[in-house]
Amino acid sequence: MRRFFAKNETRGRLTSNGVLGGGALGLTAALRLAQCGEEVVLFEREATPGGLAAGFQCGPSYLEKFYHHLFRSDTEATALINELGLGDKLEWPRPVTASLIGGRIYPLDSPLSVLRFSAVPFIDRLRLGAAIAYLKAEPNYHRLEKTTADAWIRKYMGRKVHEAQWKPLLESKFGDRYQDIVMSWFWARVHFRSPSLGYVRGGFQQLYNRLVDEIQRLGGQTRFGTSVVSVERTESGKLRVSTGDGSHEFDRVISTLPTRLTVQLTPALQGEYGDRYSKIDSYGAHCVILALDRRLTDIYWLNVNDRGYPFLALVEHTNYMPPEDYGGRRLVYLGNYLPMDHPLFKKSDDEVLAEFLPFLKRINPAFDPSWVTEHWIFKAPFAQPIVTVGYADRLPPHETPVPNFYVANMSQVYPQDRGQNYSIGMANRLVNRLVPSA
Ligand SMILES: Cc1cc2nc3c(=O)[nH]c(=O)nc-3n(C[C@H](O)[C@H](O)[C@H](O)COP(=O)(O)OP(=O)(O)OC[C@H]3O[C@@H](n4cnc5c(N)ncnc54)[C@H](O)[C@@H]3O)c2cc1C
Repeated sequence: MRRFFAKNETRGRLTSNGVLGGGALGLTAALRLAQCGEEVVLFEREATPGGLAAGFQCGPSYLEKFYHHLFRSDTEATALINELGLGDKLEWPRPVTASLIGGRIYPLDSPLSVLRFSAVPFIDRLRLGAAIAYLKAEPNYHRLEKTTADAWIRKYMGRKVHEAQWKPLLESKFGDRYQDIVMSWFWARVHFRSPSLGYVRGGFQQLYNRLVDEIQRLGGQTRFGTSVVSVERTESGKLRVSTGDGSHEFDRVISTLPTRLTVQLTPALQGEYGDRYSKIDSYGAHCVILALDRRLTDIYWLNVNDRGYPFLALVEHTNYMPPEDYGGRRLVYLGNYLPMDHPLFKKSDDEVLAEFLPFLKRINPAFDPSWVTEHWIFKAPFAQPIVTVGYADRLPPHETPVPNFYVANMSQVYPQDRGQNYSIGMANRLVNRLVPSA
């Protein structure tokens, strides 16, 4: 392996690191380790970097397989984008976000739109506005950790607001677990989110490609299309990572895979640790992307609160970024979070389109399936951890019972909803702790 100028060579030797997973977390961890002069090899099952935030080529740009944007509070992602020279591509438009309730579209992205939210009586709009103002101002989420979002919203925002806006949203994200979701998670959604949404023009994939380039420039190695099948401790105290292409020994390993998968491939974590920490449930994500020959709505983000629709959100990406970035295509995501064994994940593309397309006519009566020029369907397991009351007590620490083997994954993001920013921040903090010179 290539040797490179190393800060920690002054401590006598290089530490070799294996990083499992090439999403935001694994790539950032590998970059930070390489920047400290440590040896690093990253293993990623997919052929390309980016994990859940990865994109594919769509005209001259990359398009995320699952809709993505940043909030103003995503300072660690913003800093990394700037650090890697992509800051001039980061734009902060303020696109329209709205909810579909009773067949009508209600914008709900500003204090004025809350006052105009005629799906509920005026007095309830005032309660909604006051509760949002409280959640924005309240700095301490700990006092909200013992109650559910469902109960808190019903109590403070009122039954009508709960029924019209939040119950459908919680249900669509967490299915029949919606009544168990902890209020601190909801607090974080309101507290940290901004109406301006950040996007790396041309696609977030550029960030992940840049990370790979930088890791390699610093002497690190990246192995894509390489699935890790086991991690074992050798007699000499090293950690052996086995893949379909052979095995590699490291002083230290960081797994960014979901905890349940990490336990499955690490026999030494099975038993007490595995039983304790594999319990966090996650939903999978299912996303249909349609390329249309014309605009469908004038909204970027539409929460579909009406019952009976087969998707929970309609995200018209080209009402946020210009269609020219995608060769003139109008791009619409139809997204879902579902239990990982849900039948939708097994349906063919034709079956999915036959089920979904008729509902677009309800949103825009002029819609005709002939508008659809291309489509893509993406599915991912472990996409949305189910953040129930007591979640903080169930989170695994980064340290495991196996010396020098660390677990860092998006289910450890709390109370915020998982996002690129929090995976990047977790990687920054973990490497800072592991390599004090970082
Ligand atoms: C529908 C949807 C919408 C989202 N919207 C946003 C948004 O608007 N803004 C935002 O910031 N975030 C958003 N997110 C969340 C964001 O994508 C994630 O928080 C972030 O990408 C997580 O990065 P990660 O590296 O922690 O995990 P992952 O991206 O899951 O990375 C883990 C990696 O491990 C790899 N892997 C798994 N098993 C193995 C194995 N055996 N061997 C080797 N590699 C393996 C996987 O292929 C994957 O690349 C969204 C997610 C979804 C699903």
